[in-house]
Amino acid sequence: MDKQWNPDLEQEVLARWQAERLYRFDPHSKKPFFVVDNPPPYPSGTWHIGAVAHYSLIDMVVRFERMTGSEVLYPWGLDRNGINIELTVERATKKPLHRWDREEFIERCRQEIQPIGDALTALARRVGLSCDFEDHAYLTDSPEYRRITQAVFIDLFNRGLVYVGTRPAFYCTGCGTSIAEADIEYREDQGTLSTVAFPLVDGGEIPIATTRPELLCSCQTVIVHPEDPRFTAMVGKRVRIPLVDREVEVRAHPSAHMEFGTGAAMICSYGDTTDIQLFRELGLKEIQAIGTDGRMTAAAGNYAGLKVKEARQRAVEDLQAAGQLRKQEPVTHKTPVCERSKTPIEFIPMEDLYLKQVDVLPKLRERVAAMEFFPPRSRQLLLNWIDSVTIDWPISRRRFFHTEIPLWYCTRCSKAITPPPGPYYRPWKDPAPFDACPGCGGREFRGEDRVFDTWMDSSNTNLVASQYLKDEAFFKGNFPTHLRPQGRDIVRNWLFYTTLKSHYVMDREPFHKVLVTGMGLDKHGRAMHKSTGNVIEPGPVLARHGADAFRFWAASETNVGDDFRIDEEKIAGAKKFLSKLWNVARFISSFEEPHERPELRPADRWILGELHSLAEACWEGYRQYNLFGPANRCRDFLWNLFAAHYMEMVKSRAYQGDVAAVWTLHACLRDLLRFLAPILPFVTDKVWSSLYGGSVHRETLPGAHEGWKTDLTDLTEAVIAFNSEVWNAKKLAKKSLNEPVAGISLPTELEPFRAELVAMHRLQ
Ligand SMILES: [Zn+2]
Ligand SMILES: [Zn+2]
Repeated sequence: MDKQWNPDLEQEVLARWQAERLYRFDPHSKKPFFVVDNPPPYPSGTWHIGAVAHYSLIDMVVRFERMTGSEVLYPWGLDRNGINIELTVERATKKPLHRWDREEFIERCRQEIQPIGDALTALARRVGLSCDFEDHAYLTDSPEYRRITQAVFIDLFNRGLVYVGTRPAFYCTGCGTSIAEADIEYREDQGTLSTVAFPLVDGGEIPIATTRPELLCSCQTVIVHPEDPRFTAMVGKRVRIPLVDREVEVRAHPSAHMEFGTGAAMICSYGDTTDIQLFRELGLKEIQAIGTDGRMTAAAGNYAGLKVKEARQRAVEDLQAAGQLRKQEPVTHKTPVCERSKTPIEFIPMEDLYLKQVDVLPKLRERVAAMEFFPPRSRQLLLNWIDSVTIDWPISRRRFFHTEIPLWYCTRCSKAITPPPGPYYRPWKDPAPFDACPGCGGREFRGEDRVFDTWMDSSNTNLVASQYLKDEAFFKGNFPTHLRPQGRDIVRNWLFYTTLKSHYVMDREPFHKVLVTGMGLDKHGRAMHKSTGNVIEPGPVLARHGADAFRFWAASETNVGDDFRIDEEKIAGAKKFLSKLWNVARFISSFEEPHERPELRPADRWILGELHSLAEACWEGYRQYNLFGPANRCRDFLWNLFAAHYMEMVKSRAYQGDVAAVWTLHACLRDLLRFLAPILPFVTDKVWSSLYGGSVHRETLPGAHEGWKTDLTDLTEAVIAFNSEVWNAKKLAKKSLNEPVAGISLPTELEPFRAELVAMHRLQ
């Protein structure tokens, strides 16, 4: 063994794993299978160090499952479809998507994303992920993956679960496409609340507070609360809309908030979801004020062609000039923005394909009940989201680097026709794979040119991991997928949509178990962002401290599901534990392991009793997918008990060739290495292969050996106290620790350990 552990040795271990194909999934194995729906990361820039920690934690859980005797299918995917890379290309070339030749744009996206994905995969290997990077690697933009997305869609479409709807959609003018509720995030914005006077036709006025005066042109009614005494007399009267030569009726409706603004509200198409609801409920005629280009439409009169913000400014000025602006005050409000481009969302009527989801929400709650969650509280996150869903899922997008919607339309009768499931289709360039329209017999078709929301791809990862449409026999035996590990931030989309899809496709819950990990924050508890300047690059951290130190820090930092704070000093600190483990192993390696278990002395039985409790604690933690317990208990055992006390007590016995002491040292090391192997895959494997041959990762986790339990562990506190007392006494007497000492008597209860303690302290 090398004198010291250093991170460079990890490269050597890594090379051996790759040469041996150690983590290859064996489909012919007789062991029970365990399929993991590993999150395929989205390559965009450098991998976030929090994500690297997150994947490391997942790997530890997977390694635990493998060490319980399962044949684990742990795939490695990259989720490459989507708007992020498209925006990168558009920005880099200063050329918006719709001005590109589609084929060239797609090619450019592929070129752009390839090296980013490669770097990410290299980092995944470097940090020790035990995925099957060869046989079970996938890209969501590959024909092989996209054909699955399309086949699933064709099935849903043919079953009538997809419909075309023209309705106000969440629209991102930055990305030029409609998006889903799950793609929206909320941002605190500073705005201005303007109180505008709406003159009543019969005289008098109603003051209305709004942050969006540019939408006046699309106002179709004014509402007040039925129980609001300030407005009772005005209900049913007509008001004239400021700046617009049009009258609308004042109505009583419980959606008006008496405590907001003046209590009266203008209802426009569309400022928010309440507007959408009321237009539908009251049968109001929609006026489209904002176009898909983010500019005001002709309906906005003088403001036509202006950007939304400019129009807002102009409207305020014009109201002021007309003497209809009563008040202006600053206001903080939650603005819905696109989570990708951060553009404020507009509600624009669009024709989109929708997948039904509102109807089946109660069913989905049952699916959620059928899954086990780690930590158990994370189940509620999904239930809360299910409760908040209000509209069906718009699944069509007007983008290019996505999976194509596999539909052709008959040019004669407009019927939408699905091709047979199986191949990968590109209707925007491929001819229709059928001859005649089943409706009218027409022979000419127009290919759909829209694509899918990327969650339509991502919500199939579990099907793909379980070999859907690839190996039907395997799929049958391994669906639901055994484990979905994922971050808390994508419960509302990834976990929700997967649950929806599996409900439709398999009429079942998607997973047996769901693990939801916390988020990686900086050391002050803030999210890491380029703009905050607190981003830590993972590559250099791994180079400096090694993957094992990084992983040990991640495991020992927090309990399952909790957020963790990333602090390089703590990662560096974890290295000390690795050195300790290495030094202990080196010491033990100098004694050859006896073949058979000899008769043990009480001191040996005592430490084995402690090992028994350690095993119980490790199993308990691992079973709950909580690495905090195993990591901290192993460190505590190794450092504060085994090395500090037991090793010191039996050192002289070992040097004298005492077989019982040597056997016990090895027994402890063997168990410790195995319990730490999921967390510290490099150092444990290096030690194991040097001392015992083979890879520790082919071992199973030891149980808590029942015969090892002993009452001698009641003496642990006394042993620690006595040893500390002697060490302190020697220190006070300015003696070195291996000098003899007189006048200290052994407590009676420690009689069973007399020989070891006398030798250790040279008691006289
Ligand atoms: Zn966007
Ligand atoms: Zn037809």
